[in-house]
Amino acid sequence: MVDKEINDNIEKCSRCALCLKNCPVYDITKDDNNTARGLICKLLAYKKKILNKKEIKKDLKICLYCGKCEKNCPSKVETTKIFTYKNAELYPSKLSQRLFLAAKLLPIKILYCINFFKKHPKFTPNSEIVYFKGCVAKSQHKITFLDKLFKNLNVSCCGLPYLAGGDLKNYEKVKKKNIQLLNKANLVLFDCASCKSTVEEYYFQKEKLVFFSEFFKKKKYRIKDKSKYKNKTITFHKPCHMSDSDFFAIEEFLKSIKGINYVPTEDLNSCCGFGGSYFMFHPIISTKIAQKKAELIKKTNCDLILSACPSCVLGLRFSQLFFGGYKKTLELRDFIDKELTL
Ligand code: SF4
Ligand code: SF4
Repeated sequence: MVDKEINDNIEKCSRCALCLKNCPVYDITKDDNNTARGLICKLLAYKKKILNKKEIKKDLKICLYCGKCEKNCPSKVETTKIFTYKNAELYPSKLSQRLFLAAKLLPIKILYCINFFKKHPKFTPNSEIVYFKGCVAKSQHKITFLDKLFKNLNVSCCGLPYLAGGDLKNYEKVKKKNIQLLNKANLVLFDCASCKSTVEEYYFQKEKLVFFSEFFKKKKYRIKDKSKYKNKTITFHKPCHMSDSDFFAIEEFLKSIKGINYVPTEDLNSCCGFGGSYFMFHPIISTKIAQKKAELIKKTNCDLILSACPSCVLGLRFSQLFFGGYKKTLELRDFIDKELTL
């Protein structure tokens, strides 16, 4: 089923090259082999046995799976799905890679176990609406207003680390479990753009999946009197996996907060460059993308950077450190929790 979907998608590409425009990797390498068009041509050549899988590996691995090409594609080719699945199919994760992924997720799992035994305050969750708390947020043991207001869906992970790491077996396991849990909910709130876009790929009742700010947009928030960000300038980094509609809703929300000055970052579709563990395998490209982002943020003269994806927040923190911005970066959820009041 997935194979047919992938092949149909590959056939849809008209080679128009419109996807080159927003590709963060092409922006650095200027190599058409690294674009969606180039990758699709190579996959077609592989299908026709003109190229072997070794010859397309480098280009398929260099992709950030950011999906920017998809947003610009007039033929609606689902490029991210093609590249993640083809990567997992052609180069399934080896034992060493699975161990690496397990080691990467281990601190999250340990923290999750420690936190499991901690005493939590008693909440009065609204069972109609559930909160999709991703693995990183869980491991951080942050009890925010979202935990206090909504029942936790109790997922282990959205599945993205497995899919991006080429571990389709574990991805399918997580996906199946999540679908069963999602079926029991009426409305699911996300605070991470990457979790939401991953779940949207496999869960068909998309109208049930909303970004949490959508739920709070009518509330009249203001900055706390004692907040250090009172009357300060704040910008927001749009994660690559965030839809335009979610981003515009967040912008509206930020503009409505009394006591802060929201300034958009130019080129809102620019990537943070971090891409999960991308920076470990492609440090030069990753660093160059991050530097461009840091320069754009500098132009805003902001005092605080907000985002809505733990990977982006970490990436922005590194880039602020390396490129001298030194601006604090926070999750939107934590900013609302700590700095705002009704
Ligand atoms: S924009 Fe879409 S149709 Fe055009 S080359 Fe890129 S992937 Fe193919
Ligand atoms: S997913 Fe991102 S990095 Fe990969 S080809 Fe598309 S725009 Fe470029």
